Amino acid sequence: MDEFGLIERYFAPLGEVEADDVLLGIGDDAAVLEAGDGRLVVAVDTLVADVHFPRDTPPEDIGYRVVAVNLSDLAAMAAEPRFATLALTLPAADAGWLERFARGFGEACGEHGVVLVGGDTTRGPLTVTVQLIGRLAHAPLTRGGGAPGDVLAVSGTLGDGAGALACAPDKADTAAARYLLARFRRPSARVSLARALRACAHAAIDVSDGLLADVRHLAGRSGCGADVERERLPLSEQLVSLFGRERALDLALGGGDDYELVFAIPPAAMGEATSAARELGIPLTTVGTLRPGAGVRLLDRQGRALEGTPAGYRHFA
Ligand code: ADP
Ligand code: MG
Repeated sequence: MDEFGLIERYFAPLGEVEADDVLLGIGDDAAVLEAGDGRLVVAVDTLVADVHFPRDTPPEDIGYRVVAVNLSDLAAMAAEPRFATLALTLPAADAGWLERFARGFGEACGEHGVVLVGGDTTRGPLTVTVQLIGRLAHAPLTRGGGAPGDVLAVSGTLGDGAGALACAPDKADTAAARYLLARFRRPSARVSLARALRACAHAAIDVSDGLLADVRHLAGRSGCGADVERERLPLSEQLVSLFGRERALDLALGGGDDYELVFAIPPAAMGEATSAARELGIPLTTVGTLRPGAGVRLLDRQGRALEGTPAGYRHFA
């Protein structure tokens, strides 16, 4: 199977969905998309085998996850995901692998109405890059809109992705470990939550590098400092059962890979935000506040600053 056969067989079908705004999709030199009169939001992410996912990850899950991590970036802007391009570097054209990869990729796109409109296919070490383009009919939700006094609230639970990677092999066969692994492989991009909270939140960021690191980014861009209350972090019962509460809290603070969202919400809007999240069935937990100043302080149960906080994952550290 050559490159063209491979595109025709596995990827062109993902582009064959009803979409008025795709004027020209896969098959020409470039895609032509209807821009409309709103704004476009663009994000791109690369997953490298054995760096961002273990090489033995099921191909369906690689396909799903690469879309989900990009959806999460668009979610953090409160955008509506719409188009994807896929740059795929493969060691070999393995039909079984491609079939499964395309299935997972298509599932994640289908859940959010995203159409594959183009890409590139090359031979080399397994690397998957996806670019997503979304629409925005309103002002974006950025990292920079937070103000002192805003409540920091996080969706879902934290630390599950890091827990999946840290799980000891002898525990891998438990229901709890399988739950964590599913959270790692198939993150839930919080697209609908962000769009529901757009009007009441000041700022948002997705947690890809660990809560502390990402809160630092949000606070910095907002010109604020932040306090995070360690004991408040939302943990899954599965994470606590495998690691104990203390270790689970550290995984939640320092581990990336969860793709939950952190919002800065003015206190007066917390009631509205909480009921919007409840309506969607997504937990929203207060974990801290923005304050005047700079930097992130981690507070214990008594409100005292803790030393030696785990740093977020750094790609070149
Ligand atoms: P060119 O050589 O002009 O870059 P390609 O042969 O790379 O063209 O691609 C032909 C068509 O197939 C283009 O529309 C391109 O966007 C699309 N395409 C290539 N690889 C992929 C892929 N992995 N997924 C989706 N579309 C792809
Ligand atoms: Mg090309």
